Amino acid sequence: MFTDSHCHLSFPELASQLPAIRQAMAQAQVERALCICTTLEEFADVHALATAHDNFWCSVGVHPDNEGVTEPTVQDLVERAALPRVVAIGETGLDYYGMEDRKGGRSIADLEWQRERFRTHIRAARACAKPLVIHTRSASDDTLAILREEGEDGAGNRAGGVFHCFTESAQVARAALDLGYYISFSGIITFKNAQDLRDVVAFVPLDRMLIETDSPYLAPVPYRGKTNNPAYVPFVAQQIAQTRGIAVEDVASATSRNFEALFAGVLA
Ligand SMILES: [Zn+2]
Ligand SMILES: [Zn+2]
Repeated sequence: MFTDSHCHLSFPELASQLPAIRQAMAQAQVERALCICTTLEEFADVHALATAHDNFWCSVGVHPDNEGVTEPTVQDLVERAALPRVVAIGETGLDYYGMEDRKGGRSIADLEWQRERFRTHIRAARACAKPLVIHTRSASDDTLAILREEGEDGAGNRAGGVFHCFTESAQVARAALDLGYYISFSGIITFKNAQDLRDVVAFVPLDRMLIETDSPYLAPVPYRGKTNNPAYVPFVAQQIAQTRGIAVEDVASATSRNFEALFAGVLA
C-alpha cells in the first residue's frame, strides 16, 4: 500500500477528474491521500473530499504564497482542525523563492506578513496538538528559527510535523529531524538533475520519511511536465528504493506506517 501525504485534489484540474483518479489510485495501490488546504476559502472543498471518501483526510491552512485571501487567526485554524477528518495544520511556512520576479521586487524584510502567518499556524498546531505541514523554499534558516522561537525544540510538547516536498540540503534535513519532524519527498527526486537531493534521500532515516505527489504539480519521471495525481506516488517510492538499494515494498510500508504515526487521526 502506498500513501500520498500531500496532494491538492480540490484544484480544478484534479477535482474535475476525481472518479478516474480514484480508479487509477486503486490500480496503483495508492490507498490513502492527505488533501492539503491552501486558503480558508478553499477549506470547505478540501474538507468535503475528506468526509466523502474514507481513504482521504485533510489539513487546514493558508499557503505562504497566497496573497489577497483571508488571513487566518489561531482560532480560525483551531476551530476547523477540530472537525472530523482534519488531521494537520498547513500547508504553511515561508517561501522566499524568486524575490525579484515572483514577488514584485520586494525584499525578504518585506515578507514579515509571511512570518507572522507562519507563527499563527504554529501556535494553532501547538494549541490543538496536530502536526504542521511545512512548505519552505529558499527560506530554511528562518523556517527553522521561527519553529524554535515558537517552542518547537524537538522535546516536550511539540506539534511536530513534516517538511513537505523537501528540496533542501542534508544539513537542513538534519536540523528538521532534530526538531522531531518528518521529511517528505516528491517527484523532484526522480528528475535527472536532482542528484544532490537523492543524496539527501540516502541520508534521511527510513522511519522518518514520507512520500507525496504535491499534485497537480511536479509529476515524477516518466510523467514529468504532465498533470500529476496521487496514482503516481509509487514512482517516488521506486526512486527512494533504487537510491537506497532496498525493495519498493519496504518503502511503501515504511512511509505508510510513518504517515499513521505522524497523523494520528488517520487511524481513528
Ligand atoms: Zn508546498
Ligand atoms: Zn502543496
